Amino acid sequence: MKVAFIPYVQGRNSYSDIDGLKYGVAIHNTSNDAPAKNEASYATRRTDGTSAHFYADPIEVIQSLDTTARAGHAGSSNGNQHAVAVEITGTNDKSRDWWLTNVNWVLLGRVLAEVCKLYGVQVRRAAVTEMRSNPKVKAFYSHDDMRQAWGGTDHTDPGNNFPWDRLFQVINAALAGEVTNSSTVGGKNMMVLARAVPGEGPIWLCDGIRRRIVPEGLVASVQWLGASVAIGPLWNNGAVWEGAELNAFGAPDDSAEVAARDAASAARESAMVAALTALASGGTNVDTAVILAAVDAAGEEAEATVRALQAELEEKDARLAAALNPPESA
Ligand SMILES: [Zn+2]
Repeated sequence: MKVAFIPYVQGRNSYSDIDGLKYGVAIHNTSNDAPAKNEASYATRRTDGTSAHFYADPIEVIQSLDTTARAGHAGSSNGNQHAVAVEITGTNDKSRDWWLTNVNWVLLGRVLAEVCKLYGVQVRRAAVTEMRSNPKVKAFYSHDDMRQAWGGTDHTDPGNNFPWDRLFQVINAALAGEVTNSSTVGGKNMMVLARAVPGEGPIWLCDGIRRRIVPEGLVASVQWLGASVAIGPLWNNGAVWEGAELNAFGAPDDSAEVAARDAASAARESAMVAALTALASGGTNVDTAVILAAVDAAGEEAEATVRALQAELEEKDARLAAALNPPESA
């Protein structure tokens, strides 16, 4: 199964699965801070035989193998054969707070809800004794649980502070239909509060294209967006997201619009130069209207791009304005 609402980047180490079925879900961390897109890219070429079905980070979840395929992730044939492998960016020593704010939990919950529905995986963590007696236990487990139950590895991830309660909360919310909107980066249907520097500076409201400083007094009320159909849930579940993550939303300028405008000006200018050059090379009957018409035609296509970008930005602005001025009823 390929999850429809996330990117799929085919990984290299895809192995055939005896029955094409999965029973459990294995949670790993990547032992580093690299983004999921880097992990998924590396998975297309890595030669160590290692793979996973999903890579998750603060921004997105990327699927790397079809869930019918067998990934190389567990160290044991029980784990490889029976589990869907989920690699989450992070290391064993991360704090609970770090985990809570550095995973796109809502999206990960939606993805794993699809896995649970398809394979009947229960939303709970299996006990090691249970895994030993039933390698096809339909539940979640860590790499460390697999190590203790089935051996073949010395890995102990994802670490003692991994918030299993949060993981199960977001999966249950998705299964219950409480999460009805996707928050995506590519579709820009996303909003988040963020700070550029942890603990410092203004709080920004970001939507993937632009960002605006949120007046301190409005920070709490912006969280009403979590229930908004129009814009989608807050990506970070209403919490202020601090640190470099803000950069994930791109520059807060209108660079695309500026570039299109420059292109329109350049097209006009070159048309003008061409017309004047032709004139200088021998023409004597100067028809200003013809020259200007040629100049306008040259700029028209580029102008259409400018207008489309302006319309998109205006619409985004209206939505941001609405977000910063929540209705009384919210
Ligand atoms: Zn692992």
